[in-house]
Amino acid sequence: MIEINKNYRSFDALKLALAASPVCMVTDILLSVTQSIMQTGALALVTADFVDTASAILKGVRPRNDIYLPLVLLLVTLGVTTIIGALIQLASSRTRLNLKRRLIPSVVKIYAALDYRHIENNTSWELISRVSRDPVNSIMEGVEAYIQSLKIIISLASVLILIVTRVWWAAIIILIFSAPMFWLSVRAGRKVYQAGREAEKFNRRTEYLGDVLTGRDNVDERTLFGYSDEINGKWQNLYEAGRKLQLRVTARMFLFIKGSSLLLVLISLLVALTLIGPVLTGQMTAGWFMGIVSAVFGMIQKLGFQMSRSLESISRVGEYMKDLTAFAAMSQTKDALTEPDAEPIEFKSLEFRNVCFRYPGSERLVLDGMSFKMEAGRHYAFVGKNGAGKTTITKLLTGLFPQYQGEILINGKELREYSASAVKALFSVVYQDFARYYIPMKDNIALGDLHRKGNEMEAAHLAGLDETVNSLNHGLDTPLGKIMAGGQDLSSGQWQRVAIARSLNSRAPVKILDEPTSALDPISESLLYRDFERLMLGKTTVFVSHRLGSTKLADEILVIGSGRIIERGTHDELMAANGSYAGMFEAQRGWYL
Ligand code: ADP
Repeated sequence: MIEINKNYRSFDALKLALAASPVCMVTDILLSVTQSIMQTGALALVTADFVDTASAILKGVRPRNDIYLPLVLLLVTLGVTTIIGALIQLASSRTRLNLKRRLIPSVVKIYAALDYRHIENNTSWELISRVSRDPVNSIMEGVEAYIQSLKIIISLASVLILIVTRVWWAAIIILIFSAPMFWLSVRAGRKVYQAGREAEKFNRRTEYLGDVLTGRDNVDERTLFGYSDEINGKWQNLYEAGRKLQLRVTARMFLFIKGSSLLLVLISLLVALTLIGPVLTGQMTAGWFMGIVSAVFGMIQKLGFQMSRSLESISRVGEYMKDLTAFAAMSQTKDALTEPDAEPIEFKSLEFRNVCFRYPGSERLVLDGMSFKMEAGRHYAFVGKNGAGKTTITKLLTGLFPQYQGEILINGKELREYSASAVKALFSVVYQDFARYYIPMKDNIALGDLHRKGNEMEAAHLAGLDETVNSLNHGLDTPLGKIMAGGQDLSSGQWQRVAIARSLNSRAPVKILDEPTSALDPISESLLYRDFERLMLGKTTVFVSHRLGSTKLADEILVIGSGRIIERGTHDELMAANGSYAGMFEAQRGWYL
């Protein structure tokens, strides 16, 4: 694994690739250098030799057989250049694979340890997605651009050396002519990069809408609501805007390329003219003239097109490396990667004392003086309107946001003083948007407690999944979802039960159910809560819901409003008090009768 931990600049892309795959990278660079010498200097020499020998033979100065050696040399040079090209590709794809093997785990490790608030914040989330979308390609694009630039410089140097050996002043003239080309390439590279970044914004949005239009996840709603045309229209507008921008970039690039082609022709002509003098005075043979002029033509073309493309890629990798630096510098949660303790601590009580909390980057206090106490072995229910802060309480409890004011006490000790592994072992949460893992049913359940394998059947049974398991082709071993061969998908209710089985499989003493039944009808919801209640006899449970099907069973109901507890008591007590809870219950009465 590669450590990602410094202030990276564009050039560090090369260092990362070198660290990940030293042999292949060195081979790639050496072969590339050899290839560019062969393509220009060596090719010019053998061409010169071939032409001079041929003309000597024509004049009758040399015997016919003399042509074979230069011819073979010419063919060998061309052949070897091609073979080297293939070897370079091989080395480069191996570097890519090695980089993937060693870099991706490092990126994933940072990603997994990031403070949770970065995931919830828009700006940092964008950065995170930019960095983790395709790190290997982003870096390799830069690496290849650097190698490409090196090749161009070597080509230039080898042609210049050749010319210096014949007519030194011509070399200086060529160097002077090449300078504007180089400058133009840098400018064009930068311009194209900036415009590309603008276009990228549109691409991201069209990509998203494209997913909505064609993705599998939305197929039901897409069919039901028939919104394809509407979204299609939006997609087209965005695509048009992006396309126009791209078109402008392409037009600029086209102008640049056309303009520079003219300049290239001029430079090549000037070089040829510069060298004609020495040919006429006999300082240089016709063969040398042809060899050098064709090498100069080839090289100048590279200088014009490839150089600007390489410089553009180098700027892009520079931006990527900056992003990578910022990503690695984001604050991480200590012990984020630790597994839950094998043995949870004995749970006695949990208390919020005057807890205030606002989400990072937001002004609004979501919890404003929240205070309550829960004892082991009892059943609690949080109720309140949507957005009242119920889920936020569970997020604070499980340590996702340690930046709250006030105190959260577990067995009388502040939550932040416990190790992450102890907190993780204490709570098991069935989230509102619980995950659906497209892996076998058994593994889906086992994830609830990795220290406790082998109890999946029992958990499935407790969660009421017997019938479901029996209906699957390979029972518990059946892959769920549609991505694996032989996979079978479940209904929302069944998925919910799988999530509950996962929670039952865990030995965490406090079980939290955060509105996990929202996909169920009120009757199934009540039944499910009743089942869960039965299973959790003697354990501590916390139900979070804005629907009141669960609350009659709770030993204590905590009603949340304005970021604090506004009422608390049993169902009967709260109904008798005729307050906020009674109002909500009356409004929902029809659902549960
Ligand atoms: P509930 O579970 O009671 O429906 P939540 O705890 O999910 O409510 O949300 C409470 C409030 O906090 C809501 O107003 C919501 O908009 C806000 N909120 C939730 N998550 C974030 C976040 N990541 N950043 C900013 N505000 C948030």
